[in-house]
Amino acid sequence: MQPKEPNQVRIAALVRDLLIELGEDPDREGLLKTPERVARSLTYLTHGYRTTPQEVLNGAVFESTANNMVIVRDIEIYSMCEHHMLPFYGRCHVGYIANGHVIGLSKIARIVDCFARRLQIQERLTEEIAAAIQEITGAEGVGVVMSCAHLCMMMRGVEKQNAVTVTSSLLGSFRDTAVRAEFMSLVR
Ligand code: ZN
Repeated sequence: MQPKEPNQVRIAALVRDLLIELGEDPDREGLLKTPERVARSLTYLTHGYRTTPQEVLNGAVFESTANNMVIVRDIEIYSMCEHHMLPFYGRCHVGYIANGHVIGLSKIARIVDCFARRLQIQERLTEEIAAAIQEITGAEGVGVVMSCAHLCMMMRGVEKQNAVTVTSSLLGSFRDTAVRAEFMSLVR
């Protein structure tokens, strides 16, 4: 069962309280519609909770005898860290070697979004994408590499502006040295 849509009125009321607690006046002109805007924005930014890989795939799995590596590079990531609810963003590369079934290339990006649009840590996001591609296609191997900048590190905490976090998840044949090397050279 899919989780229900967030209650916009309730979120807006919470944001209004938050503004007051932070020392703001929610009745000043610039903030009048902010609670409703934030409610809509947060609902969109977390829409991954209300969809599944199977749903975004919508049956787009095709039989194929191809046994080559397929890579979709430079998929944009916009997610939010679960520790601070601040954005992290960057790019991800997804590769797999089919074992009888392939999926539409655009669906790979949509599966990425399905997990990115939730509160996440980058490590888990990387693993969830790889596991979903593996489960859906039955691929002989899957590789996901992601590099992201985390605003919670950049604008607070250690305040490191240029630190990029790189994570990878390699499944099946992508753990073999030669396959991993081919994948890494193609996404570099
Ligand atoms: Zn964080």
